[in-house]
Amino acid sequence: MPDLSRRAALAAVAVLALSACAADPEPSPSPSGEPATTATPTPTPRATSSRSSSPTPEPTPEPPPPPPLEWDIDSGASLQAIVNKRRPLNPPDYAPQLVAVSISQDGDELVRPEVDAALVALDQAQRAAIGEGVHVFSSYRSYATQSSIYQGFVNQYGQAEADTTSARPGHSEHQTGLAVDVVGTSGVARLSVAFGGTAPGQWLAANAWQHGFVVRYPNGLEGITGYEYEPWHLRFVGVELATAMTQSGVQTLEEHLGLPAAPDYG
Ligand SMILES: [Zn+2]
Repeated sequence: MPDLSRRAALAAVAVLALSACAADPEPSPSPSGEPATTATPTPTPRATSSRSSSPTPEPTPEPPPPPPLEWDIDSGASLQAIVNKRRPLNPPDYAPQLVAVSISQDGDELVRPEVDAALVALDQAQRAAIGEGVHVFSSYRSYATQSSIYQGFVNQYGQAEADTTSARPGHSEHQTGLAVDVVGTSGVARLSVAFGGTAPGQWLAANAWQHGFVVRYPNGLEGITGYEYEPWHLRFVGVELATAMTQSGVQTLEEHLGLPAAPDYG
């Protein structure tokens, strides 16, 4: 296994490099040192300088404290509110200030103003990259609307099945005004897991974070998010948090923020 041994060698080098850093803080000696104190003649002949000649070690730099949680994840009004099956919207019937979606859309789509601005930038970037823009087919849903959608699923499939597909009222990201369901302007693979394999789906998965969006329900992580793969569902959290999550290498907000998994309503 040459690849493995090469990895092991690289890892060993990395460990050496790290331990070298850690073991060798080496306080930099002041180049001039302490000026020698000359004992001036005094009536007391035993007088000697009390100045010590040993150099004062420079304080070892403290490791930086863990970054504070910079985001309000609890308040429904926060752009970083985390809503899942274990975390209802706060308050459950929260209703945000909304504006009409500016980019291609089905009609009557509403989002928070910050989301609309980000969607404009996202649409332009995707268009420039792959020649196809972003189309929004679902966005804000009120508590009342979510209630009727959820009840419809329950009536048709039963509660257990409904809970895998539709959020209970007060638990939907769509009620925050920060979530949108999108497809490319060509409309290919609308509301389908196949969207994840299309050019827009792949571009969004790789780049949406640059405009503050995350693909909220990634493939295979329903044990954490509570939802099956939805490559079309984007959640706006702001560029800072989206970037931090992407850089951390985890795919869910729950993992990045150290929140418990939310596979069900508990
Ligand atoms: Zn959605």
